[in-house]
Amino acid sequence: MAGVVYESTLVWDPERPPTTIITCVDGRWYNHFQEFARQYLKAGTRTDFIAVPGGIEPLTLMDLVPKDFNFFKRRLEALIESHGTSRIVAIAHQDCAWYKARKLGPIALDFKDQQIKDLRRASARLREMFPGVTVETYFARLGQTQPETVVFDAV
Ligand SMILES: [Zn+2]
Repeated sequence: MAGVVYESTLVWDPERPPTTIITCVDGRWYNHFQEFARQYLKAGTRTDFIAVPGGIEPLTLMDLVPKDFNFFKRRLEALIESHGTSRIVAIAHQDCAWYKARKLGPIALDFKDQQIKDLRRASARLREMFPGVTVETYFARLGQTQPETVVFDAV
């Protein structure tokens, strides 16, 4: 029988957050991204959130895989128009399985260079497409301390 199975303890707030974060789906990083948004980005306790494996990578595929590019672009256009988004923050992360799986040629230990290249390319594309929107890019990785924490580099 269908029906309510759970009621959230949180009160509904209809106000839309101005920031959209675009990241990979990897749940190991989720809490770190959220804390980064609150503490460093000062984006408030809530943001819009787009998570796909590999993060902003589809925005680099206009020529290579145009259907992936267009899927992502159409949804971003609709989001920005209907939500009034004023800021996009794209975050890539170390040890991303999407980049590993799609790597052609010799296996490297990490794909940071490619990911940073993609962040730059995608953010240039975002700025072209949405001139009124602020675009920021970051790379999340493990820090040097023990136990390991997560640090964010501006890209
Ligand atoms: Zn990933």
